[in-house]
Amino acid sequence: MADIHSFESFAALDGEGIRYAVFFTGCPLRCVYCHNPDTWHKSGNDMTAEEVFNKVRRFKPYFRNGGGVTFSGGEPLLNSEFINGIYPMLKSENIGYCVDTSGSVALTDDVRQAVDNADMIILDIKFCDSEKYKKFTGGDIEKPLTLGKYCSGKGKRLVLRTVVVPGINDTEDEIEKYAKYVIENGLIFEKYELLAFHTMGFFKYENLGIENPLADTPALEPSRLDELQKHLDKTLKVIGG
Ligand code: SF4
Repeated sequence: MADIHSFESFAALDGEGIRYAVFFTGCPLRCVYCHNPDTWHKSGNDMTAEEVFNKVRRFKPYFRNGGGVTFSGGEPLLNSEFINGIYPMLKSENIGYCVDTSGSVALTDDVRQAVDNADMIILDIKFCDSEKYKKFTGGDIEKPLTLGKYCSGKGKRLVLRTVVVPGINDTEDEIEKYAKYVIENGLIFEKYELLAFHTMGFFKYENLGIENPLADTPALEPSRLDELQKHLDKTLKVIGG
C-alpha cells in the first residue's frame, strides 16, 4: 500500500516521451520554494500496487518513444518497497519508470533496488553547500550526493536538476558553484537542467494555512533562466572536459 496524492496523465516534463506521473505523499524535506506543499502529509488515498498498475496500464499505448511512468511526490523513494512491488507488473507489460527524487533518503536495500530497476533517475541538486541545504530544505546534503554517486557508479541514466530562486541562487557565481560541486564529486549525468522558481503553487500555502517563506519572492524570468542555463552548460564544459 502507498498513500497516493494524485496522478497526472500525459505529463511531458519528468522523463522522456509521454509520462504517466504518480505523485506519492510524504516528504522528509521542507524546501522553502516547494510548489507541492499539499504532498507533505498523507491524503488518505491508500492504494495497492495492483490498483496503481491498473491505472498505469491504460496508458500503455502512449508510452512509445521512451515514455512510461514517473514516480514523483513528495518523495517517491520513501515508497521504494511499493515501487519494487509494482516493478514486476510494469515489467510484464514492458513499461519502464523514472524516479523524480530529492535524494533525501537513506540508501537502503529497497532504495537501491528501486533505483537499479529505474530507466532513469532525475535527482535534485537543491543546494551545493551544506549550510544552505540545511537552511533552505531542512535536510542533509550528504544524502542526495550519496544517491548521485550510487547512480553514477552503476552507470544509471541520471538527470540533475536545480531550481533557481531569485535572491537565493540566481547569480553566475552561484551557478558555477553547482557545476564545480557535481564535477568534483564525480557525478556522471546526461543532462543538468535549471528550473525557474515560480509562484503557481502559492495558493496551496494559503489553502493549507501554512506560512509561505517566499511569499514576497517573484518568479524567475524565463530569459534569466536561459542565461543561467547557458552559463551552467559552458562552465560544465570548461571544468568537466
Ligand atoms: S523535496 Fe520536493 S516535495 Fe519535498 S519539500 Fe522539497 S520541493 Fe517540496
